[in-house]
Amino acid sequence: MHSRIIGLKVIGSGPAAHTAAIYLARAELKPVLYEGFMANNVAAGGQLTTTTDVENFPGFPQGILGQELMDKMKEQSVRCGTEVITDTVSTLDLSSRPFKYTTEFGSESNVHTTDAVVIATGASARRLHLPGEEQYWQKGVSACAVCDGAVPIFRNKPLVVIGGGDSAAEEALFLTKYGSHVTVLVRRDKLRASKTMANRLLSNPKVTVKFTTRPVEIRGDDTGFMNALLVKSTATGAEEVIDANGLFYAIGHDPATSLVKGQLETDADGYIVTKPGTSLTNVEGVFAAGDVQDKKYRQAITSAGSGCMAALDAEKYLAEKFGE
Ligand code: FAD
Ligand code: NDP
Repeated sequence: MHSRIIGLKVIGSGPAAHTAAIYLARAELKPVLYEGFMANNVAAGGQLTTTTDVENFPGFPQGILGQELMDKMKEQSVRCGTEVITDTVSTLDLSSRPFKYTTEFGSESNVHTTDAVVIATGASARRLHLPGEEQYWQKGVSACAVCDGAVPIFRNKPLVVIGGGDSAAEEALFLTKYGSHVTVLVRRDKLRASKTMANRLLSNPKVTVKFTTRPVEIRGDDTGFMNALLVKSTATGAEEVIDANGLFYAIGHDPATSLVKGQLETDADGYIVTKPGTSLTNVEGVFAAGDVQDKKYRQAITSAGSGCMAALDAEKYLAEKFGE
């Protein structure tokens, strides 16, 4: 028997965090989930609170609003027995056990401890904050082609992707299924994407790659949706307006890893490294799930799946370590 209660915390509030919490609560591990308070500039509930319809999350044949989906996930976490705290974890010290952390609304001297932790703090898509971006956000402007590309406003319309990496290539190719034509704006005179992806992109007849070009201003019409983009050549300075009913940023994501910087192994792009096929990080008792450790798929369903993995991995760890 143990003289103290085993602590298990989940940090985050997106699909990964809530799925982990549902599994942990059902395993009677009494998880405490810190959902954040505008952590990383996103409301509790994570990235899906910033979108409208989610049409690719199974179980909702008519689609579901992102906010509503996250409200339901939270409701399910709580119903299963998770304690949800609306506070942001501001420091996490993994150098000794139990791990120590403080929160934004707690005083600095109010140091909490935990024996295991699931990091599910997510990521945020980079944006350029161009003139017109706020006005036309989700009215043509998006940071996720896979999420938004299929909506009717983009059907048979000219679309633009910004970026020259694998994501830009992948998103542009994906969008050729819906748009009439896809223009990719690349700021340099070359792509960063892998050879295979670059070749696929450059050889697609529905794609035009405009090198040394950057977007300047998003424009729209009186329907409230974007319909054009002012672009500028970085080589000559010449400006031109191109027709565009959609603009998709693919200029990288920033994983929310400030809590664990220098403590957990991260890759060259800053994502937490997990042991392949698991949620295990390089520190025993610390598990990572969702976009914070996934630079490839970045979907709600894959985040939820990895949240489940983190819960099962944490459960096994606690059972082996503490007989819980
Ligand atoms: P996130 O959703 O990124 O949430 C993590 C949250 O944790 C943060 O937002 C914050 O609230 C909280 N947090 C962060 N740090 C702390 C801290 N220190 N303490 C406490 N809390 C903290 N995917 C789809 O499958 N279908 C779609 O249709 C779709 N549409 C999208 C539309 C948009 C506009 C965007 C941006 C993304 C979309 N995605 C979609 C992608 C999807 O939202 C993400 O893949 C998914 O939300 C990632 O989940 P996550 O659990 O890793 O974390
Ligand atoms: P990357 O960082 O690889 O590429 C970002 C792209 O956006 C670059 O072309 C960059 O230009 C451009 N960019 C950055 N900032 C700006 C800006 N302010 N204005 C205009 N353009 C800008 O990010 P990705 O998301 O593409 O990829 C991240 C990682 O995920 C990579 O390792 C990638 O290989 C991997 N990935 C793999 C996939 C696959 O295997 N199928 C799919 C998707 C991603 P510049 O080159 O000039 O810096």
